[in-house]
Amino acid sequence: METFDIQRVRADFPILGREVNGKPLVYFDNGATTQKPKQVIDAIVNYYADMNSNVHRGVHYLSQISTDAFEVTRRKVQSFINAAHEHEVIITKGTTESINIVASCFGRTFIGEGDEIIISAMEHHSNIVPWQMLADEKGCVLRIIPMNDRGELDIEAYNALFSERTKLVSFTYVSNSLGTINPVKAMIDLAHQHGVPVLVDGAQAIQHIPVDVQALDVDFFAFSGHKMYGPTGVGVLYGKEELLNKMPPYQGGGDMIKDVTFEKTTYNELPFKFEAGTPNIEAGICLGDAIDYINSIGLDAIHAYEEELLAYASEKLATIEGIRFIGTAATKSSVISFVVDGIHPYDIGVILDKLGIAVRTGHHCAQPVMQAFGIPGTVRVSLALYNTKEEVDLLVAGLERAVRMLK
Ligand code: PMP
Repeated sequence: METFDIQRVRADFPILGREVNGKPLVYFDNGATTQKPKQVIDAIVNYYADMNSNVHRGVHYLSQISTDAFEVTRRKVQSFINAAHEHEVIITKGTTESINIVASCFGRTFIGEGDEIIISAMEHHSNIVPWQMLADEKGCVLRIIPMNDRGELDIEAYNALFSERTKLVSFTYVSNSLGTINPVKAMIDLAHQHGVPVLVDGAQAIQHIPVDVQALDVDFFAFSGHKMYGPTGVGVLYGKEELLNKMPPYQGGGDMIKDVTFEKTTYNELPFKFEAGTPNIEAGICLGDAIDYINSIGLDAIHAYEEELLAYASEKLATIEGIRFIGTAATKSSVISFVVDGIHPYDIGVILDKLGIAVRTGHHCAQPVMQAFGIPGTVRVSLALYNTKEEVDLLVAGLERAVRMLK
């Protein structure tokens, strides 16, 4: 596809043709999960109809083709994020598991009592709780990068958080609750000047912004398939070979071993050392189809289209009486979070749902962000490549109606 053809894109997503509550579906909950194009849906059906078999084990034909297809995905991911080696791509269940692998395997090995981990004030719970669990176990300490009232991280304060005891930095590329795009490259460089490795949570970036892990020089990078038009139950942990090799396995079981005797077990090489047991095979394979789909349009074209849509939606929503945007950073991705004076976000969500419009309401698994803004939650509109200005207009009309009813 040379130019971005929105009608062609929309035609790829069967669910966009359905109605909800008698109205055409308008889906603005893409930060939670994206819809799937028929190319991915067909690939899932095709996997079960044509090649279902366990991977990495059998000599028989089906096992070979499913293994090959699974490994093709690994290479597609490698090229999508420009990893130096395909064995630096660990196939996981998703971002949450990817972060937990680092907390568990890197954390338990290299972080001890009194050591420090830096995270930011705008993290999703999945980039807070694993570190708190590690802190409980090891007696290490979390240091939090503060943010201003626009939802931008304070980089000077970040620099001042480093000490001799800092062992790891972990922060999100794009905030799922505020939409802020953090200056990841500068933040990684700063950590490296202090000799500290960095994990970036790419869950809300990978579907919107071209990522080059080598150019970023990031040490670990985590993301989920289901937020990038792929299946649920699959995701990626990218890690630099040198670090992954120093880390012990995550779980014990099949596939992650070389040899097992009752006296001694030797572990498999990368990436299998971190992939114990039967993976979500169909999701792993079809993540590759999601990457093909994104590549067929081009992330640059997607990014440009979504930026235009974000600007349009921000401008239109600003006309709603009593609206207050939560997250007004200078650089933002496809998330608009807001509250409306005197109205509970949940009530807005319910009325919009009656109109067939799906938004998310609540704390978005980022309760500390809500605490920082002194609110219980927001209404969150998160955009994807298939959303349109007409849908934004429907949202604005729906919101006007909700405000009239609830005021
Ligand atoms: N980090 C961020 C920034 C997210 O938005 C999400 C999903 N909402 C996650 C982590 C967790 O992703 P998953 O549930 O797919 O593991």
